Amino acid sequence: METIAREHTIKPPAGPDAFVHRELRDGEFWRAIPKYRDVDEATFLDHIWQGQNSIKSPEDLLDTVKELVDPSFFEDVREGFRRAPMAVRVSPYMIASIDWSQPYRDPIRTQFIPVASKLRADHPRLTLDSLHELEDSPVPGLTHRYVDKALFLPLNVCPVYCRFCTRSYAIGGDTDVVEKVSLAKTPKQWQDAFAYIASRPELEDIVISGGDTYQLAPKNITLIGDALLAIPHVRRLRFATKGPAVMPMKILTDHAWTDALVGVVDAGRKLGKEVVVHTHFNSPSEITAITQRAMALLFERGVTVRNQSVLIRGVNDDADTMRLLVKRLSYINVHPYYVYMHDLVKGVEDLRTTVQTSVDIEKAVRGSTAGFNTPMFICDAPGGGGKRDVHSFDHYDRENGIVIYSAPSVKPGAHFVYFDPIDLLVPAAQARWQNPSIAEEMIAEAVAKAGGMPTYVSA
Ligand SMILES: *Cc1c(COP(=O)(O)O)cnc(C)c1O
Ligand code: SF4
Repeated sequence: METIAREHTIKPPAGPDAFVHRELRDGEFWRAIPKYRDVDEATFLDHIWQGQNSIKSPEDLLDTVKELVDPSFFEDVREGFRRAPMAVRVSPYMIASIDWSQPYRDPIRTQFIPVASKLRADHPRLTLDSLHELEDSPVPGLTHRYVDKALFLPLNVCPVYCRFCTRSYAIGGDTDVVEKVSLAKTPKQWQDAFAYIASRPELEDIVISGGDTYQLAPKNITLIGDALLAIPHVRRLRFATKGPAVMPMKILTDHAWTDALVGVVDAGRKLGKEVVVHTHFNSPSEITAITQRAMALLFERGVTVRNQSVLIRGVNDDADTMRLLVKRLSYINVHPYYVYMHDLVKGVEDLRTTVQTSVDIEKAVRGSTAGFNTPMFICDAPGGGGKRDVHSFDHYDRENGIVIYSAPSVKPGAHFVYFDPIDLLVPAAQARWQNPSIAEEMIAEAVAKAGGMPTYVSA
């Protein structure tokens, strides 16, 4: 008999890149900001202090970062505020996480603080409420698009305001450029949403969003949780909040809020129903040792946390940054769930990127960590088509940036169109978009190539 000598191949040790996700910013890093120089840890971790010291105007910002910014940058911010469709609100934690030596390049500054010099013209096919959430809304504050799940919007305020918010049609106060739609905002109005959910036995899954559930008083977390868990056919609840990304200390110091949340999770578990938190980290630099402590507390208390990111130009639109984000989230027990294409939102064309970028990054991320921690890359099809795997387009005209999706289980027979940002197209394509009748022809041709009739063209 012949024996086969087999050499074991030794995998070489991983290089330093394999450990970067574990390096979390720690210590009193906020003291580098002039206004927070004398702020001790107990104060910085206090959620009330964080809320009260949030930045809402260019003057607040200047008063906080003082000599760290150049006067020319400050002028740019002032003009950015004037032209922004979203109200501005930035927590001290976020301000302290920005690298003020390079504010134009910083991913956190990019998400929360508008600068006029970066603004670009909106895509000609863009409308407010591009996802048509209002169209699928049977009662104020409820969107029922998919058969078995609904989106409940009990409030329109957030701990911070993101420039890129999909719901800029409703979230935050009116601004110079947008007057906001009213959502259901009082417990009395919520009853109509609960009654609707109770009347639809097919609804098993309710997303409680907003606004942001961080801003719900503890008693209202309990009220909403109890009301929804009491509906027999409701099986799953998700509390959606950007809070862990922008103000993680609230979980550590607002005991009443955290206890209310954990109370609903525990009540659900006793009923055999899943209650989880969905959060929204976009950049690895949003995750610090404070975040790790907050997430460890939720983990210990049995709360599952999943993450939904938005793919944002200059924030996370390259493979290295996205891999780092995914690994860092996994490291602190947050499951990366989705990475969305940026919706067609007013005034933030500088933040969008192409579907091809998402396709490429997905390829680079998959295989870098556990499959269950690998997010799905999604395009929420404008016009109400719902979420589609970015790869699943029926046709993609890359030159003109026109992507056609269909959604057989949401709106059978219809085709939906997503548009890449025009400034990332080749000059000839940019010129074609200047002519509305040529643009119309390009879209019709792309829809025809996808084999469809343009029942729902774009926003
Ligand atoms: C995203 C969304 C949901 C939840 O969808 P999942 O894919 O299950 O996370 C529900 N309703 C609406 C209107 C949504 O946009
Ligand atoms: S936290 Fe969510 S709802 Fe609020 S502004 Fe940001 S993206 Fe919009």
